[in-house]
Amino acid sequence: MGTDDAYAELGLAAGASDHEIKAAWRRLVSQWHPDRNASPQALVRMQRINTAFELLRQGLEADDAAPPAAPAQPAPQPAARSAKPASGGGWTQPPQPPRPPWHIERKLKLTLEQAAAGGRMVLRGRHVERCVACEGVGFRHSPRPCEPCHGVGRIGRRNFFGWVAGFETCGECQGDGLARLACEACDGQGELGRCRYEIAVDLPAGLRDGETLDLSAGGTQGDRLKLHVVLREHPFFRLEADGTLHCEMPVDGFLWMANRWTDVPTLYGPQQLRLDRRHLRYRLRGQGFPKEHGGARGHYIVDVKPLFPAQFTREQEQLIERLAASQRHAPGTPLHEWQGKVARWKAKVAG
Ligand SMILES: [Zn+2]
Ligand SMILES: [Zn+2]
Repeated sequence: MGTDDAYAELGLAAGASDHEIKAAWRRLVSQWHPDRNASPQALVRMQRINTAFELLRQGLEADDAAPPAAPAQPAPQPAARSAKPASGGGWTQPPQPPRPPWHIERKLKLTLEQAAAGGRMVLRGRHVERCVACEGVGFRHSPRPCEPCHGVGRIGRRNFFGWVAGFETCGECQGDGLARLACEACDGQGELGRCRYEIAVDLPAGLRDGETLDLSAGGTQGDRLKLHVVLREHPFFRLEADGTLHCEMPVDGFLWMANRWTDVPTLYGPQQLRLDRRHLRYRLRGQGFPKEHGGARGHYIVDVKPLFPAQFTREQEQLIERLAASQRHAPGTPLHEWQGKVARWKAKVAG
């Protein structure tokens, strides 16, 4: 790798300052470090970044004839610190800054099926690495007072005649009266970079909308992962607060009359249901949503809505005629008794 290539690798113009080189290296490390970047090219890229960094740093040190300085927060990595002679063409790995713990808080959107089943899920996203040195604010206070407001925190607002006509908060120190020095670790940005994360989590079955899951992300100590569960709307199912699952399903009225089998969707796949013309509501035990995390499943209630044509065809009319004519209302049936009552009443009225 030549010097020009090294500058290009770090995304810098030739002749960038020591400060710029360090900042670029830090930014790229936080992006490409294999601990944080799962892509297959991360390791190779990381090596190239380190080679470039080492090369440029050696060049600058030779220019300044200055003693070598550690770039940033040297981590205890004995193997990485065995510096090889520059002429050997080998590369030495600069010390890695220790990664601060990840504190990730985000939404977890689940379909009802996913929430009912639980299990392993891979979460991907971007994580903003907050600067530890300045706690994310991008500056530290100097012991000296703020210059524009002389440490008062307020600045006089002058009117047209030049008289002080009130005060406003000093924009330089935001009112605390102390001079601010840009944080060197993050160049005043408050963050060290953004990286992609990929975390596998094991979810319990039966997560509900609005729940918060507090999980450890695993890996580096101190990582925290907080997930706010959001259940997506489902095209068929409605989950009641008590855990009962509902579905309203239109069915063919003639098939319902004929007590036929039909397909019903459930959270766990399609199922066969025997229609029964005496019933509109069907209760499928154990086919609902888990009552509690990892617990038994509640009921699943299917309300069927038998649909009949608004207009019968001529053929259907004839079939219905035959159907009606085939009806025999035997003595003792409600209709037979009703017809008897009406006949007696008619005779009385006529008499
Ligand atoms: Zn900082
Ligand atoms: Zn001030």
